[in-house]
Amino acid sequence: MKSESVRPTVPKCTFCENPAIVYRKEVNHHLCKTHFIADVELRVISNIEKKTLISDGDRIAIALSGGKDSTALLLLLYRLLPCWNDVHLIAITIDEGIAGYRVETIRSAQRLAHQFDIEHRIISFDDIYGNTLDSLLRGKESQACSICGILRKKALDKGARDVGATKLATGHNLDDEAQSALMNVLRDDLPRLVRNSSTMKSPYFIPRIKPLSDLSEKDIATYLLIQDAWTDLPECPYTHNALRREVRSMLSDLEYRYPGTMLRIMDSKRKIEHYLSGIEITEPLRHCKECGDPSSGEVCQVCLIKRSFSH
Ligand code: SF4
Ligand code: ZN
Repeated sequence: MKSESVRPTVPKCTFCENPAIVYRKEVNHHLCKTHFIADVELRVISNIEKKTLISDGDRIAIALSGGKDSTALLLLLYRLLPCWNDVHLIAITIDEGIAGYRVETIRSAQRLAHQFDIEHRIISFDDIYGNTLDSLLRGKESQACSICGILRKKALDKGARDVGATKLATGHNLDDEAQSALMNVLRDDLPRLVRNSSTMKSPYFIPRIKPLSDLSEKDIATYLLIQDAWTDLPECPYTHNALRREVRSMLSDLEYRYPGTMLRIMDSKRKIEHYLSGIEITEPLRHCKECGDPSSGEVCQVCLIKRSFSH
């Protein structure tokens, strides 16, 4: 008997006649290119509205590293701008001073800001802390990411304040957020688990917003790839936090086998935040006795790091 070759059929988009390029398991939707782009934009706008992340008249500083998440953030916010009145975007790039890595990502950030005609500021660790991350880390490479994170946070706050921003937007995605939530549970760090930097009311902090926090890493990569907005960039040479790496691989495996896992982790985090609202679980904010910045201890983390450099 002659065997007939069976051609795999490409499923059609749930919303039109075009072939689907993506299947969203969580909602059982097959999506073509056009409907996938529309779906991503809709999810971002509903995340922004649900949490009131952006209001008319906001001046939004975008933390633009030049990597894929911040590229998608810029692209999406730029497209969604007509949803609000009088909202202004400014891009801020932090140059930590990491040889063989930052030069290319900064170039990509510059290209993007230029392409969208957005004001762009570059702030270097060298200017703020008097040295590059590479030099500051000598002998402390194993702590690279925690030191870098603390110093970059302060640099971004300073950059956002300098441009008169009312919000500081970062490209954190669902994977990042679910990983951080789980890591805080694993470290038994309840204050950090429930800290919500977008609603923090303090004259010292510019509220941080994460408009992409409902999109997975995969959604963002697909969104960029299908619009030819993907740029291959080198990876930071410092090893990522070992715990995050393990949590990341465990969560992607769980997400694959049980779709919606990461969204459910974030729902649980929100419920815990809700149950604990009004209960003081963090140390009251004081001022660092060395630099005067807000701090939970006598000396802020940045000054503690600076001290360790001078020894
Ligand atoms: Fe900084 Fe670590 Fe990110 Fe490199 S990987 S930029 S050291 S936080
Ligand atoms: Zn379609």
